[in-house]
Amino acid sequence: MSVPQNLTFSSRISLKNGITIPVLGLGVYKIPKEDTERVVRTALDIGYRHIDTAAYYGNEREVGKAIRASGIPREEIFVTTKLLPTRLFGVQAAFQESSRNLNLGYIDLYLIHWPFFRKRHAWKILQKIYADGSVKAIGVSNYRIADLEDLNSTGLAPMVNQVEFHPFLFRKRLLEYCDSRGIVVEAHSPLTHGKRMNDARISAIAEKHGKTPAQILIRWALQHGTAVIPKSTREGRMRENADVFDFYLSEDDMKKLDALNENYYAAGLSRLVGE
Ligand code: NDP
Repeated sequence: MSVPQNLTFSSRISLKNGITIPVLGLGVYKIPKEDTERVVRTALDIGYRHIDTAAYYGNEREVGKAIRASGIPREEIFVTTKLLPTRLFGVQAAFQESSRNLNLGYIDLYLIHWPFFRKRHAWKILQKIYADGSVKAIGVSNYRIADLEDLNSTGLAPMVNQVEFHPFLFRKRLLEYCDSRGIVVEAHSPLTHGKRMNDARISAIAEKHGKTPAQILIRWALQHGTAVIPKSTREGRMRENADVFDFYLSEDDMKKLDALNENYYAAGLSRLVGE
């Protein structure tokens, strides 16, 4: 995917159906219920317009509350939530529960959280939900190439595949595969879940650009054409993570970062469905 050099905080990527997703969002995994409303409000005040939650995170209600209270027009904010694999025998009901929890009128993007079982069944129901108009786009998460291929001949292809993606897990083949089929890749755990941020090779590139390691990791994922959803509960870090649009990683920087790949999975469950 060719990525424009002049990305901004308000840049969006077009999905196959023409819906656009902001390139940078806030992930809210592991943000406790009691902090979520404040954190999301802060993110919206800073300028984030893309929030990534899931039924699994237990904070959909608080995400919805923060968005409603912000007074920002609903259509300016992109909200993703995800289907719990334990709800694969009641997908419609699970979707309705998430919709009620968020209480935002519609959901922008609904994803199957993990490719555990009943993949084709769940994907068919998501297509039905999409056809009914209650969600603007549908996709999957943590899907490998083989999982995506399993969905061939079940109607629509996923519009998004949200996977763990950072230099220590540079999924070149998956990225190329998704690109060739018009599936937008979203980078989850782009900061390695906070586990590998002190790497001297990343710090060296960061110093050269007068940026922080977190900013280098986010910029790297953006320049690979992904939508990126770092999580932070702290205002300063949320600002830092969004301050990635005034510099450009050279081809040489990108190659050095790509070369850090060691198929390292930072997010617990994502490891279970790794390549
Ligand atoms: P990230 O890779 O975003 O890292 C988050 C960690 O980094 C936190 O400990 C955070 O701490 C810290 N951090 C954030 N910003 C900075 C910074 N500028 N400098 C130093 N440390 C920083 O982890 P996540 O695993 O949360 O991934 C992001 C989002 O991706 C999730 O919130 C979720 O929405 C999604 N996700 C999806 C999955 C899926 O299966 N589909 C799986 C995992 C994540 P602090 O909060 O204290 O700032």
